[in-house]
Amino acid sequence: MAEDCIFCGIVAGDIPSRTVYENDDVLAFLDANPLAPGHTLVIPKAHHETLGDLPEDAGAAVFAALHDLAPVVEDAVDADASNVAFNNGEAAGQEVPHVHGHVIPRFEGDGGRPIHAIAGSRPDLSDDELDDIADRIADGA
Ligand code: AMP
Ligand code: ZN
Repeated sequence: MAEDCIFCGIVAGDIPSRTVYENDDVLAFLDANPLAPGHTLVIPKAHHETLGDLPEDAGAAVFAALHDLAPVVEDAVDADASNVAFNNGEAAGQEVPHVHGHVIPRFEGDGGRPIHAIAGSRPDLSDDELDDIADRIADGA
């Protein structure tokens, strides 16, 4: 548990939440400022800031909960689909520095955008640059 972390405070029961799912490793609760009805956050109970900081077993537990909850959340609010996403680091818009996956229900004609709308302008990359990037990712994987 990290001092001054809102989500650790929710795990500890010090800060109220509308909890919708819990197991030994994971907690899921409604977002306090929802982008859509049913907007749900899934967090590891242990404090880790980003996905890269998360131990493999905790990451697996978070993904398993997202996998189980996404269709349940959609059904609960009669959504047509959902975006499931992480703001992974401050430069990506992460405001609460405790890993959390968003499940954002989506509805036909809701005026929202796909995940492709998140980033800035598309880079113009040559084949060589793409090959180099792919090699560096493959080497680190
Ligand atoms: P992010 O920008 O990915 O860090 O998103 C943080 C999310 O946490 C936002 O969607 C907030 O609305 C949500 N949030 C912040 N505080 C609380 C809280 N006490 N209970 C539930 N959701 C919260
Ligand atoms: Zn925390």
